[in-house]
Amino acid sequence: MTNLTRTVSDRQEPTPIPAPSAAPPTQTDTITATNKAARDSVGRRIRRAGLGDPAAARVLDRVTAGERIAPDEAVLLLEGADFLALGRAADAIRRKRFGGRVTYLIDRNINYTNVCVTACRFCAFFRPTHAPDGWTLSHDELLARVAETEAAGGTQVMIQGGHHPDLAIDWYEELFSRIKAEHPEITVHSLGPPEICHIAEVSGLDVPETLSRLAAAGLDSLPGAGAEILVDRVRKLVSPRKIDTDTWLGVMEAAHEQGIRTTGTMMMGTVETPAERVEHLARLRDLQDSAGDGAGFRAFIPWTYQPVRRLWGEESSGYEYMRLLAVSRIFLDNFDHIQGSWLTTGDDVGQLTLHFGGDDLGSIMLEENVVRAAGKAGTLASVERLAALIRAAGFTPAQRNTAYEVI
Ligand code: SF4
Repeated sequence: MTNLTRTVSDRQEPTPIPAPSAAPPTQTDTITATNKAARDSVGRRIRRAGLGDPAAARVLDRVTAGERIAPDEAVLLLEGADFLALGRAADAIRRKRFGGRVTYLIDRNINYTNVCVTACRFCAFFRPTHAPDGWTLSHDELLARVAETEAAGGTQVMIQGGHHPDLAIDWYEELFSRIKAEHPEITVHSLGPPEICHIAEVSGLDVPETLSRLAAAGLDSLPGAGAEILVDRVRKLVSPRKIDTDTWLGVMEAAHEQGIRTTGTMMMGTVETPAERVEHLARLRDLQDSAGDGAGFRAFIPWTYQPVRRLWGEESSGYEYMRLLAVSRIFLDNFDHIQGSWLTTGDDVGQLTLHFGGDDLGSIMLEENVVRAAGKAGTLASVERLAALIRAAGFTPAQRNTAYEVI
């Protein structure tokens, strides 16, 4: 479950990560050393980009002419384009499609268990099986949270959790059926590809059958959780037990074939290089080409890795994030929506993303204590705050649903 690091609601205390030992080196030490050069070079190359590379400027001319660019050209833009020229090119595409409108969603991210057998190296949320502080919410507890979400004006729940070894498909079918019976207006946008594969394995099913049974029970769409970086070199380092790139894309393809819409995501800022970020975008663009218009991915949502303790290289800056966002808008010419992040990058960068290709600021994730203590009033305060943020950046805010329809 990738976006646990951006969860506001249901946040758990992080697992203390032991300090690296002096000798022999831990695997973390080895990873840090191995990737320091790659991560440092990201900073060096992108700092150099402030001057503007003439070759990148020629690529931007092609973008302005409405041409699709190749992956190596996207790398050139990511590393070498003049910052403001890059932003202007992405903004022009975004304004042509969406004018001055910026959308947002009210939803709740509900974690159903922190028990997980996958043990990703970046994750501070999970607990091993039988850990004393492992927990799993009951269906009644989960239904109560869905009810709170609806009462507070939310339209979507994103139910995600660890890879629990004992939860088979009937547990999810019963949960989704009850949500649909008791809250038919709520959209169930839940379970990323790694969870789908885990449920399939625990249940002795294949992925298409798992998806069709979950959809029949009430699963509406899939978030792009667990994508991290869709390059196996990176995945082996940051989440070695998680599904590989082809499997992640295969789940999304199977979902698209059944008419289940999804989102694409990226968690940037661990060990990946600029070329690997673009490779990730290229894999998403290729899959979306095969899905066709009005199907497949609805949006691309990148965010920055938020460490409890830094495991790899240097942290992604807001500058680096905005370059990636702008290149995403330009390169992913078959994606409708590009979401800027304010949760992991802060309000200021969130506003600026709207000038670098972003047309959506994602969700106002209801905070559990806000919902309980303040009910609707607390939620409205959050909505007003985000709307004010959007207006102050020069755009018109609009609430949307999961399908990106303004409501
Ligand atoms: S799969 Fe498990 S360890 Fe990996 S991010 Fe999700 S909860 Fe954390």
